Amino acid sequence: MTNKLRYFIANWKMYGDIKSLKSIDPVIKFAKLSKKKKIKLVYCPPYTLLHPFFEKIKKTNIGLGAQDCHYEQNYGAYTGAVSSKMIKNLGAKFVIIGHSENRQKGENDLQINKKIKSALQNKLSVIFCIGETISQKRKKLTKKILKSQILKGLNGIKNKSKIIVAYEPVWSIGTGILPKGFELNENINFIRLFIKKNIKLKNIAVIYGGSVNPNNINILNSISSIDGFLIGGASHSSKKLIDIVRKSFN
Ligand code: PEP
Repeated sequence: MTNKLRYFIANWKMYGDIKSLKSIDPVIKFAKLSKKKKIKLVYCPPYTLLHPFFEKIKKTNIGLGAQDCHYEQNYGAYTGAVSSKMIKNLGAKFVIIGHSENRQKGENDLQINKKIKSALQNKLSVIFCIGETISQKRKKLTKKILKSQILKGLNGIKNKSKIIVAYEPVWSIGTGILPKGFELNENINFIRLFIKKNIKLKNIAVIYGGSVNPNNINILNSISSIDGFLIGGASHSSKKLIDIVRKSFN
């Protein structure tokens, strides 16, 4: 295991209500005790919970993020949308952009690129999601897809210091299926090297997302190239989230 900062980013998706706030108490306590460890825990609840989450975690070392933002960086006539400026105003410091669940709804690379630019303008750190579908994997297109998503998503972006790349094979999200260790290691290293060479960005954090849980975290932790995890389903349970973090440091 490396001595680098490791991210544990909880993506709550469209789950959680005001009563769920109480459920994160054990994580707050745990984070306090783990202050000295190189851990960055970030909660990304739905928009409706951003403010209550902020109030709850503002005095802790836990970060707050949104799950998406609009590409318009300020305000505008976009019914139902939330801009990166609004997210920043609420006290969040992170935003997930390019999640496959949004790409599947039609979000394209150009929109993702505009969203990243808007988030960076508002000084948010971006968790930029990339990953291949199962049919792309079967056709051996994984690297081609990753290259294209990186080049288009990060096109023209100057301030790249606030970007964390989340490699999330689409077929692994919510399915319980993990990539094989050697494949995952190869793809993570490929992403890091490709970004270093083509985007001129050294030492970028590359995290993994897809069915991470307390039962498979030891296997994932044996892949030292991974800088942390984007955790969906398992992150709703404080017990599971703590277990995942704890097992990553024991
Ligand atoms: C995700 O939503 O980014 C994710 C990885 O979900 P899950 O952990 O449930 O597969």
